[in-house]
Amino acid sequence: MPELPEVETVRRSLLPRLRGRRLLALDIRAPRLREPLDRIALGRMVGQRIVDVRRRAKYLLLDGEAGQSLVVHLGMTGNLTVVGDEVAAETHEHVVFKLNDGERLRFVDARRFGLVLALDQSAIEGDRHFSHLGVEPLTDDFNADYLRAQAARRRGPIKSFLMDGRVVVGVGNIYASEALWRSGVHPRRTVDRISMSTWARIVDKVRQTLDEAIVQGGTTLSDFHDGEGNAGYFQISLQAYDRAGEPCQRCQRPLRRIVQGGRSTFYCPGCQR
Ligand SMILES: [Zn+2]
Repeated sequence: MPELPEVETVRRSLLPRLRGRRLLALDIRAPRLREPLDRIALGRMVGQRIVDVRRRAKYLLLDGEAGQSLVVHLGMTGNLTVVGDEVAAETHEHVVFKLNDGERLRFVDARRFGLVLALDQSAIEGDRHFSHLGVEPLTDDFNADYLRAQAARRRGPIKSFLMDGRVVVGVGNIYASEALWRSGVHPRRTVDRISMSTWARIVDKVRQTLDEAIVQGGTTLSDFHDGEGNAGYFQISLQAYDRAGEPCQRCQRPLRRIVQGGRSTFYCPGCQR
């Protein structure tokens, strides 16, 4: 499933290919994805020039000049790409916008867990897909003060806290595990026992981990493709994740695997406190 770094990679690759271009015609080839496709709302995007491509959590927002945005979630297997007319339609090419020059913007999704919507830009924040979302981890809103305030209202271990999308979006299992190893914080440490300086370190390491993954083009655990159809790849060097039994690169103690909330966590019993 594409994680935040993959979606950000898609955003960055789509932006230069879409900004300033007009969506000319719409072809909807499936009745529904995870939700029914709203032909009337999506039809309002036709004729609009794309002025920006943004991301909120794992949603891509293609802002039209007339105040609506095309909202796309890749789900498990979705790809949003711009391709030329020499590229044949695929079986799972469900939503297609024609662009000029014979190119098309297409959403391909074999498993159909993705979403394609059109929303008024002014309504996005309050929309049910967005209203519960926490802060973006790559913005200044994600900081030690914010995390301490959130921790005062919640209980539980730091690993689950970081993966809670109501606190911060886009910190998936691999990234949470890795960022905690880098921070030297035990994944089971409860959030009421974390100091301000440790919160600041966690913020720093979460950002660093995500940034590295974005720089490397995102990770992939399925058939992820960026906006040009290039396969993504798993390149970030993971120092803890999936390395149970291997020596910690900081203190040489063997790393351990535990299960938290049904997900594997990898940590070092020697240097994560
Ligand atoms: Zn260690």
